[in-house]
Amino acid sequence: MAIQAEPPKFHQLLRFLDNSGLLHRVYSQNIDGLEAKVGFDIFSTKGSQKCILLHGSITNIQCEKCLGLYMLENYLPLLQVGHPIDCPACLDKSRQPAAASKRPMKPGRLHPKILLFNQPSPTEDKLAHITLDDIKSIQSNHVLLIAGTSLQIPGVKSILNSLIKAMVQSKSTNCTIIYLDTASKIPSVLPKEILHVKMDCQEFSALTIEKIKTPVTFNYATFPAARRDFRPLWDWS
Ligand SMILES: [Zn+2]
Repeated sequence: MAIQAEPPKFHQLLRFLDNSGLLHRVYSQNIDGLEAKVGFDIFSTKGSQKCILLHGSITNIQCEKCLGLYMLENYLPLLQVGHPIDCPACLDKSRQPAAASKRPMKPGRLHPKILLFNQPSPTEDKLAHITLDDIKSIQSNHVLLIAGTSLQIPGVKSILNSLIKAMVQSKSTNCTIIYLDTASKIPSVLPKEILHVKMDCQEFSALTIEKIKTPVTFNYATFPAARRDFRPLWDWS
């Protein structure tokens, strides 16, 4: 189903924001890999990724030994009949002449590249560095959009807490934090200062794309020169 699914409007919003130079980072709990379908390099090992899949992606399988990555769709027929899959790279290595004189190496098995409940993240240290960089780069016009989550997972709560603390408690910043959910209350982990938008995520995304595309109509000249840096780029009304 994940292989066949098309990215919804929210993912189109992420792509639109990134294309417009407005997207700093996406932290996602999704495992359907739809972020890749709107052009995010979800398994890049270079630098810090624009889109971080906190719980991995069901669309890929990984070798437990050499950590080689493969597309799940190529192995679906074997998995559907309950056949375990040996890693092709490990198998190749074990067949090379240099390996023939040594004790035969058991190839690694391929497993879905997703994080299970209570499993520690193999990239925890890297993630901590990325979050720290994000905290350091917070500026007064930044927006943190929290969507599609009820904030039940400890790891996600911890990342969010660090970001919110930096955005709310720092006196030098005046950031906006939006919680987007149709629920009547915000989760207790969130501070009161946030803006709760009670709207369907996809509807919000379609409206936001339209708003950003629509230029503001008021007269910039009426703004005092010293305040012009603070003029909004689009009309949020
Ligand atoms: Zn392997």
